[in-house]
Amino acid sequence: MSLLKIEGVWKHYQGLSVLRGIDLEVAPHEVVCLIGASGSGKSTLLRCVNLLETIDDGAIHLDGAEITDVRAGADDVRRRIGMVFQSYNLFPHMTVLDNITLAPRKVHGVRPEEAEARARELLDRFGLADKAGEYPDRLSGGQQQRVAVIRAVATDPRLLLLDEVTSALDPTLVTEVLGVIRELKETGMTMILATHEMGFARDIADTVCFLEGGVLLESGPPEQIFSAPEHPRTQAFLQRVL
Ligand code: ADP
Ligand code: MG
Repeated sequence: MSLLKIEGVWKHYQGLSVLRGIDLEVAPHEVVCLIGASGSGKSTLLRCVNLLETIDDGAIHLDGAEITDVRAGADDVRRRIGMVFQSYNLFPHMTVLDNITLAPRKVHGVRPEEAEARARELLDRFGLADKAGEYPDRLSGGQQQRVAVIRAVATDPRLLLLDEVTSALDPTLVTEVLGVIRELKETGMTMILATHEMGFARDIADTVCFLEGGVLLESGPPEQIFSAPEHPRTQAFLQRVL
């Protein structure tokens, strides 16, 4: 069974259709990369999955239950989905450790000692053990974004959504954030990433989806999408960006 199933999803903003009947299934442990020009609907799709936007038609299922059903609790759904944005949005007045343990403690009811132990284990695994007591403004952009990713997985989400998480970073800092994502893949985390990093998408994705004008025009394994795209629009896009 798929972990996430997106069926015929439409989203309109003031008469403009920004998602036009999106169908997408994500299997457990699968990594899906969304590619496409700016404005193609990648962020909107992620935001619909996380129920930050309401959809106008279609349905989204997580673990077999419809989360877009009006009766589904958005808080409960968001508890099972982690999301990281382009701008890392760490709480500036909290230490790295407190940033990471906040949701486990306040939202998931994890005991403070347990939340801290888990946070330290994650910081250690991702090479940030010595930053636990620092405030975000003392960290580099890459380190802040790594903390944001750790914070998103500290609640053990079923699914992690990553929206252009390297776009705001200097090229030299991109690598370290991509390293964290690669490591998460090895732990079996199911992820959907919107990314401009074609090299990274090729490297990490199990499935690459090309969006244009709110339509999922083509999807497949990276070898196919990057080396032998079938749709002329995919070919044109890749010619521009590669
Ligand atoms: P991408 O992430 O691929 O760059 P987006 O999902 O951000 O694309 O945007 C898709 C389209 O939806 C764009 O035309 C954008 O202008 C429009 N859009 C996104 N959010 C809103 C909003 N809150 N109100 C109106 N239009 C929006
Ligand atoms: Mg976007």
